[in-house]
Amino acid sequence: MKRFSILVLLVSLLPAGALFGQSPDAPHRIALRAARLIEGKSDHPITNAVVFIEGDKIASIASGSAAVIPSGTEVIDLGDQTLLPGLIDSHTHLLSEMNGENLTLQDVEMLRIVATQSTAERALLGAKLGREDLEAGITTVRDLGNSGVNGDVALRNAINRGWLPGPRIIAATRALAAPGGQFGRLIPEAQKIIEQEYVILNGPESARQAVRQALYDGANCIKVIVNGSPADVTLDEMKAIVEEAHAYKVKVAAHAIGDHATRIAAEAGADSIEHAYTVSDDVLKMMAQKHIFLVPTDGTEQTYIDMTFGGRQPSAEERARLEAQIKPYVTGNQDRLRRARAFGVPIAAGSDMYLTMPGKNRGQASLLMLEAYAAEGMSPLEIVRAATSSAAELLGLQDRLGTIEKGKFADIIGVPGNPLNDVTVLEHASFVMKGGTVIKREK
Ligand SMILES: [Zn+2]
Repeated sequence: MKRFSILVLLVSLLPAGALFGQSPDAPHRIALRAARLIEGKSDHPITNAVVFIEGDKIASIASGSAAVIPSGTEVIDLGDQTLLPGLIDSHTHLLSEMNGENLTLQDVEMLRIVATQSTAERALLGAKLGREDLEAGITTVRDLGNSGVNGDVALRNAINRGWLPGPRIIAATRALAAPGGQFGRLIPEAQKIIEQEYVILNGPESARQAVRQALYDGANCIKVIVNGSPADVTLDEMKAIVEEAHAYKVKVAAHAIGDHATRIAAEAGADSIEHAYTVSDDVLKMMAQKHIFLVPTDGTEQTYIDMTFGGRQPSAEERARLEAQIKPYVTGNQDRLRRARAFGVPIAAGSDMYLTMPGKNRGQASLLMLEAYAAEGMSPLEIVRAATSSAAELLGLQDRLGTIEKGKFADIIGVPGNPLNDVTVLEHASFVMKGGTVIKREK
């Protein structure tokens, strides 16, 4: 009886209608209408789609003009657009921006950034670039290092607290690497700079400690530079990293290029291999068998040409010289992606964009990867999946992100026309919603 009287008291204190979802505190309801919906599961778009959103989640999906829209629902009609899950970039560097005009000077550029920009300054850069990603329709990123000392964690937390707009961030903290990190050889007096960007491994026990340090620092995933230092990370170190990370249900992203490094990453059971510009068939088969994702951080020939020449028009001779340099690289990437797909290696989209691109902001430049995948032979639907549901699975977020389904976060974009006919429309999102909040709506 006592309980009953307390309940009566509580009910009498509630504003009228609170029990029926009518109060100002009830979740905001939105009905998103568009000509097409690619929800990310079926092979065919749903036409005349309506997505119902309640608060930050997707409540239901309906199709056709028969869909009943309850009163009190805000209707957003996007006309002849296609709705898709928010895009996921599985390989970003939001706290780093290098001049793309001289690719041979990248090592020096990297050193200059780390030596002259504090982590605080880089986090503010990340705030700008993160916003550009979000406005381009990239609602989630896995940020893989090159972020100073835990600057990515600071940016992630700031976004999560609503201090500034940005994508959901899966942060890696500092990358784990063999002695030297990715700076090449530095004189002894300059060694201290390495720990601003990398945690150096010296054997399996230090590898375990590095994982624990990353978790303590706030990492959601672990990034390992398997090759790229003067020496490679060893198989024993890599195994220790994967074992320790998996014990805490954290995934491991392995930067690896070439037979030795990709083999170490695959044998140790990393969750994804980044780049793998050169990789042998048997490593790809091992990746398929162990369900290790390939994150092909590829660009088109045109992207590399535009980047290198900045805004200026090259002479015919300059252009020909660069094309001759780039072609074998681009053709090689195309061949490895074709082989990976043929063997059934899961693919997740990742831009690895950290360079300036003339005429494009970070978000726009990052989405050029989708053009590269198309040029390399992936179908539009495969590309959409690589940048949504597959990437969500790689990030371990497939129960919350990656498709438009009841109960998932309302991360939804609208693009003009139909991306299954022309994948480049994904570079022109005119509508972006993250967690039920409209970020961008262009008329
Ligand atoms: Zn990278």
